[in-house]
Amino acid sequence: MMIVMAPEARPEHVDEVVARLEATGTVHAKVVPGAEQVAIAAIGDAGAVRGMGLEALNGVARVVPISRPYKLASSELSHNEPTVFDVAGRRVGPDTFCVIAGPCTVESRDQTLRVADAVAPHAAMLRGGAFKPRTSPFSFNGLGGPALEILAEARERTGLPIVTELTDLTYAETVAEVADVIQIGARNMQNYALLDVVGRLGKPVLLKRGLSSTLEELLMAADYVLKGGTEQVVLCERGIRTFETATRFTLDLGAVPWLKLHTHLPVIVDPSHAAGDRRLVEALARGAAAVGADGIIVEVHDDPDAAMCDGPQQLHARDFPAFTAQVLAHAALAGREPSMP
Ligand code: PEP
Ligand code: MN
Repeated sequence: MMIVMAPEARPEHVDEVVARLEATGTVHAKVVPGAEQVAIAAIGDAGAVRGMGLEALNGVARVVPISRPYKLASSELSHNEPTVFDVAGRRVGPDTFCVIAGPCTVESRDQTLRVADAVAPHAAMLRGGAFKPRTSPFSFNGLGGPALEILAEARERTGLPIVTELTDLTYAETVAEVADVIQIGARNMQNYALLDVVGRLGKPVLLKRGLSSTLEELLMAADYVLKGGTEQVVLCERGIRTFETATRFTLDLGAVPWLKLHTHLPVIVDPSHAAGDRRLVEALARGAAAVGADGIIVEVHDDPDAAMCDGPQQLHARDFPAFTAQVLAHAALAGREPSMP
């Protein structure tokens, strides 16, 4: 339910509503400031909220249902205002296009710094996996802690903020110390214990859509993260499982405009994991720009044939300047400037 306050409501009126909601023990209250009116999202036991008679309290204009199954992520809650945030001067949200690029995995200091140097003039942020969720337990699963130190050095050297994945609660604090944006991978989109914690680490979160998750499920996963307290969540469409096996996953570009209608959160696209083949990545990235994505996250390697993970889909670092020029030209047609400091 949403408690919409009257334009003349005072802060103490808002506090009173929040206190009443929280006293139930079954309702989570979140104050949503608006240009003219404050609203309070009351999430949890809708029946209890309806029966509380909040309309009678000073400053309350009306009590209305939030009709969708996802709440904090819903565009209903934000009065259709999009969420915009800034990561070390790189804007994520409407009007800009944010290119996050880097290797699938941090394999060594030299490899990571070479790729970081190559992407730095053209990208907004550097990606790189330190902890890798692998389908087989026998595959390389990342360098872990030492990889985080390498990423910190790459940031120091290039100024690029770091996007890296958190796979396990055990590493939450360690990853949060280095990451500028914490990635939650497709395989963990429904790891609710991890979602609960990541929203409380004080860092922006990049939440990938699960391999077989619906968009409603993605937005409910985002609700877990938002409930933790962070407001800075970016969603990522990275391809889903369908009957089609020609590409690694089926990139659901329709997800982008649908999400734009239903959530206030920014949306980016991962063309690399969707394609599984670098020859398709530029076309998909141009498509992402054309359908209104707020950016892309793309894999780049200085020697993809020797990569320890996802070699066939990683762009050659030498091709990256031409790649970004093409994609940013499409983003410009969609009215977006490159996200740069
Ligand atoms: C990744 O971006 O490194 C990754 C593992 O992607 P996904 O979680 O989408 O498979
Ligand atoms: Mn990868």
